[in-house]
Amino acid sequence: QRMTVAALAKAMNKDFDHVVEALLNTSVDLESLEPDSVLEEKWIKKVVTQSGMKFRWAKLSERKERPNRDVHRRPPADPSNLLPRPPVVTIMGHVDHGKTTLLDSLRKSQIVSTEAGGITQHIGAFLVPMIVAVNKCDKPQADPQRVKQELLAHDVVCEEFGGDVQAIHISALKGDNLLALAEATVTLAEVLELTAEPNGLVEGVVIESRTDKGKGPVTTAIVQRGTLKRGCVLVAGKTWGKVRFLFDENGKVLTEASPSSAVEVVGWKELPSAGDVILEVESEQRAREVVEWRTYEEEQQKLQEEQSLIELKQKLHLEEYKRERAELAHLSWRQRKSALYQANKTKFSVRPSERTEREGPSLPLIIKGDVDGSVEAILNILDTYDAQRQCEMDVVHFGIGDVSESDVNMAETFRGSIYGFNVGASSSVRQLATKRGIPLHLHSIIYKLIDKLKDELSSKLPAQV
Ligand code: GDP
Repeated sequence: QRMTVAALAKAMNKDFDHVVEALLNTSVDLESLEPDSVLEEKWIKKVVTQSGMKFRWAKLSERKERPNRDVHRRPPADPSNLLPRPPVVTIMGHVDHGKTTLLDSLRKSQIVSTEAGGITQHIGAFLVPMIVAVNKCDKPQADPQRVKQELLAHDVVCEEFGGDVQAIHISALKGDNLLALAEATVTLAEVLELTAEPNGLVEGVVIESRTDKGKGPVTTAIVQRGTLKRGCVLVAGKTWGKVRFLFDENGKVLTEASPSSAVEVVGWKELPSAGDVILEVESEQRAREVVEWRTYEEEQQKLQEEQSLIELKQKLHLEEYKRERAELAHLSWRQRKSALYQANKTKFSVRPSERTEREGPSLPLIIKGDVDGSVEAILNILDTYDAQRQCEMDVVHFGIGDVSESDVNMAETFRGSIYGFNVGASSSVRQLATKRGIPLHLHSIIYKLIDKLKDELSSKLPAQV
C-alpha cells in the first residue's frame, strides 16, 4: 500500500509540513520530499501514529476517496420563475408585552382574511423587514409617544421622526386598531415586492421541533422555495424524512404548502433542530447518503478538534518543562531533583543530563511509583547509570500514583517510555498508550523493571557490527 504525501496529509486533515515534521529523524530523504512523492506503508504508519492517530488503512483510503455527498441550496432562481408570495410575520417583544394576546386576537379577528386580503397567518411565525406595534394603548397610563422616542436610542426611527418604520398604536387585548396593523403589514409586503419560486426542489427552514406522542418527530417549518407536498423526501441537519403529513396551524391536514407557508411536517426519522435548513432531495437513497456524509464530516471534525487539543496540551507541557528547567538551570541534577522532590511530591520533572544538546541516542523516561520510597529507589538506581554509556537517559517526569493520561501525553511529547512500579493503568490509559505507540511497562519487582529498562536502552544503541 502506498500513498502520496499530499494524499496522506489530506486524509489526515493536515498539511504537507505536518507530514515532513513527522518524518524528521527518519531515513526518509526530506530534502527531496515533494507533495506528490510516494510514501511506503511503513512511513505512512509512522506519520499516522506519530500524529496520535490510530493507523487504519481502510479509514485512510476511504477518506482519500470519499467524495463530498452533501446537498446545498439551489442557485438563485430565474426571475421569470418567481411569483408573488405572502409576507412571513414574526411578533417580537419582551415577556408580557402581549405577543400571545396579539397573535390570538389576530387569529380570531376576521380582519385578516376579509379586509386585508392576502395575509396568511400561521402557527407562530409571520416574516419581516419591521413594523412597530405599540401595545396596551388601552391602559390609562399608556404613553406611545415616549415609546417611540425611546426606540430612537435603538436606531428604530418611526415615520413621525422622519424614519421609515410605521408605528401602530394597538390594544391586543381589546382588539383595537388591529386592522391598521394588518394593513400596514400588507402595504409593507407590497412595497417589498416579495417573490418566491413555487417550483423545483423545496427549500425551507425549521423554526420549531418537538416530539409528539402520536405523530413522532414533528417540526414547524417555513417553506422558502418550491411547493412542499406529501411524499417529498427532505434532509435537515443530520436527519431526513419523507413527508407523511402536513398540518396548518389549526391542525388541519394540507395537501401542499407553497412559499411563505408555515406548516407542521410529520415524517422525520429523527428530530432536526430549530434553524436547520430543509432541503428536498430526489430520493430516499440520496437522503441517506447526505445524512451519512454529514455525520461522517462531523466525526472528522471532532477527531480533528481532539487532536488539536492534544497538541495544545503537549505544547503546554513542553513550555512548563522548559520553564522549570530554566529556573533550576544553575543547580546540578541531584540538587534539582531534591529541590523538586521537596517542592512537590507528586509532580515534577527533572533531567539527569547536564548536556541538553546531545547528538547520540537518548531515552526519555517517565517514572511512576506507588509511594515516595519506591520512586526514590528507582531514581537512585538510575543515578548509578553510567553516563559514559552511549544512550542517554532523560527522566522527564516522575511521580506517585497510577499511570495517567497526562503521563501518556508527556511521554508522547518527549517520545519517551513510561515505567511504573507497583502502580496500575486503567484500560483507557493503556489503550491511549497503545494508540500513540508509547511503551508502557508496569512491574512490581524492581530488578525486573531495571532489566527491562536496560534492554530498552540497549535497543536504542546503533547495532554493533
Ligand atoms: P407575551 O409574554 O408577550 O406573550 O404576553 P401575553 O400576551 O401573555 O400578555 C401578557 C399580559 O399582558 C397578559 O396579562 C395580557 O392580558 C396583558 N395584555 C396583553 N395585551 C394587552 C393590551 O393590549 N392591553 C392590556 N391592558 N393588557 C394586555
